[in-house]
Amino acid sequence: MKVLVINCGSSSLKYQLIDSDTEQLLAKGLCERIGIDGRLVYQKTGLDKETTNLPMPTHKEAIGFVLDALTNEKTGAIKELSEIGAVGHRLVHGGEKFKKSVIIDDEVIKGVEECSDLAPLHNPANLIGVNVCRELMPGVPMVGVFDTAFHQTMPPRAYMYAIPYDWYEKYKIRRYGFHGTSHSYVSQECAKFLGLDYNKSKIIVCHLGNGASISAIKNGRCVDTSMGLTPLAGLIMGTRSGDIDPAIIEFIHKKEDLSIEEIMDILNKKSGVYGLSRGLSSDFRDLDQAADAGNSYAALALEEFAYEVVKFIGEYMAILNGVDAIAFTAGIGENSAEIREYILSRLYNIGIILDKEKNNQRADGNRLISPADARVKLCVIPTNEELAICRDTVALLKK
Ligand code: ADP
Repeated sequence: MKVLVINCGSSSLKYQLIDSDTEQLLAKGLCERIGIDGRLVYQKTGLDKETTNLPMPTHKEAIGFVLDALTNEKTGAIKELSEIGAVGHRLVHGGEKFKKSVIIDDEVIKGVEECSDLAPLHNPANLIGVNVCRELMPGVPMVGVFDTAFHQTMPPRAYMYAIPYDWYEKYKIRRYGFHGTSHSYVSQECAKFLGLDYNKSKIIVCHLGNGASISAIKNGRCVDTSMGLTPLAGLIMGTRSGDIDPAIIEFIHKKEDLSIEEIMDILNKKSGVYGLSRGLSSDFRDLDQAADAGNSYAALALEEFAYEVVKFIGEYMAILNGVDAIAFTAGIGENSAEIREYILSRLYNIGIILDKEKNNQRADGNRLISPADARVKLCVIPTNEELAICRDTVALLKK
């Protein structure tokens, strides 16, 4: 079956067309500047990327252009729209309502709308994509895959905040966690790659990208994760602060006469390694270069980022009471041998052994970076959220 995977944001949309039988990527791309002017990027596998400026006043035109590109006579990946057997949608927040992926119907849409106050920027935008696809592809089954769902197995001691209990009851304030599709995919791939029984294993997944999170997975179930009610919590990220003392908000509000909205904006967009490097960059490649050239702020930003990952790994090894494998994924986790070495070499005395040579080899695909006989296996597992969404979509429709 050919599955169209859609990740719809407020002014952009990413898509991939995947053949679920072979798991081959047939075409991919994105629409940018929706509601502003509009730009379509399209690439059929094996051909060059094409970028076209096209008017996209709404998501309806954008998705219309995607479907036109996919069926284009010369460069299309399919002949007719009817070849698309299903659409898988990335949905950000499923609250406590959605613990698994679901086939989308009117009731599901209502449920996702109800979770919108937990993700006001994301859920409404995701739903626009769902509604437009339903309109343009009537009769094609749609599946929703939630960023939060994988973490719904956490026990209350991991997801409850120590704040008045009725804030949870009234507003559902608790830890949800994000990047769930990636944590689920990477932990399963990791178990498969190492020949572990997923349902009898302890795995820590470090998803280190622009957004970063880490999770502890025991016997195939997430037992803790670093992001919280929102993706602002946990590790230091590109521009997000990660965990800070909440009292800083009142303190800086008084000192700089900033509103809560302004402070939240700074914590989301001007903090993290960007803030620590005095606004130099949120991109780790820029920071690497600057640190090598002697910039001490960039060096501190990188060191502190890695230090926080070390702390979380130690914490999760403790709550799991040991670990079989630690997997690194996403932009930094997959590509930065230096950051991986910084993190893992600091855990040597608690049984984590890195093979530096393997760690420094550049290679695609899943790979081991610990000695083959190490007790704790260390690996790099490239994430593929679209493929995970495609797999869930097909699995649900087969049921
Ligand atoms: P997201 O999907 O959250 O936007 P990615 O997973 O694509 O993020 O990761 C982006 C991050 O990965 C950027 O900070 C980028 O600098 C970093 N990155 C990519 N390649 C490298 C590399 N070779 N070395 C260090 N960092 C890298």
